[in-house]
Amino acid sequence: MTDRNYLKQMRVPTVDSPLRVLLSACLAGVTCGYDGTANGTYPSALKLLTFDTLKIVKFCPEEFSFGSPREMCDIHGGDGYDVLRGKAKVLTETGADWTEGMIVASLKMLEIAIKEDIELAVLMDVSAACGSQVVYSGNRFDTNKVYQIGAGVCAAQLMNHGFKVISQRDFASLELLYSKADPMHLIDEKAIDHHQISWYKEYFGE
Ligand code: SF4
Repeated sequence: MTDRNYLKQMRVPTVDSPLRVLLSACLAGVTCGYDGTANGTYPSALKLLTFDTLKIVKFCPEEFSFGSPREMCDIHGGDGYDVLRGKAKVLTETGADWTEGMIVASLKMLEIAIKEDIELAVLMDVSAACGSQVVYSGNRFDTNKVYQIGAGVCAAQLMNHGFKVISQRDFASLELLYSKADPMHLIDEKAIDHHQISWYKEYFGE
């Protein structure tokens, strides 16, 4: 669940002093997805590239550790926080253990967040690295694929160190960010975050 109070209280940036936002590189259109694509097109994230009051820092942690294209990986036995605690593993679709490489990737992302003094991260949800609201539990290619509420390894690493993370599907939170970036932006009061959509409520019984 996103911290909308944090977003409301964020400073109003200027061109000379832009808000520093870490963005999953694929959300910016970089073809760093496992299959060598950008994992689709997400206008909610691409819009962030249009504001001159935002400094967008793009990074793909999986590409950093594993290159592109690469196998698809998911978290087994917990979520990203559990991986960082040594209680869960990151395995590829063919069973290769990528746990260590993913932790290295998360530390690189943390290093960038600290170096760039990031004020917010907008990351691709459901990814074993970048997910912040929902991730798969086990292999997503299983016939009975299972979702869990939780974070990917790199998002969890950032949040463990106090960074705020939202996803490209947290539309209400993004509206707040747009309005910070451009005070003339009219907030869409009907926009909702990922945890408020009917699929999420029905699937997780919330
Ligand atoms: S690791 Fe993150 S940035 Fe890289 S492709 Fe996956 S979701 Fe996008």
